[in-house]
Amino acid sequence: MVLKTMKALVYHGPGKISLDDVPIPTIKKPTDVILKVTLSAICGSDIHITEGHTTVEYPKIVGHEFCGEVVEIGTEVSKLAVGDKVAVSCSSRIY
Ligand SMILES: [Zn+2]
Repeated sequence: MVLKTMKALVYHGPGKISLDDVPIPTIKKPTDVILKVTLSAICGSDIHITEGHTTVEYPKIVGHEFCGEVVEIGTEVSKLAVGDKVAVSCSSRIY
């Protein structure tokens, strides 16, 4: 089996961050949604993480504010559909 990968910004410890090949995510729970990220932003939290000012375990994929397109949904997801364009923020909610 060939493992499919994608690029992700990965934190490897204070001052160590790189663009790595990581496994493409899969639906694990019925409430999961998988997006293809089309735009992203760098948050102050990401800077604090990369400078080692937080207690984040590593390696860790950073980034939590982005836009994307829904490419797969779990069986219990009812408010989103494949093809929907969405924005994700650490402070957003789905109504
Ligand atoms: Zn943030």
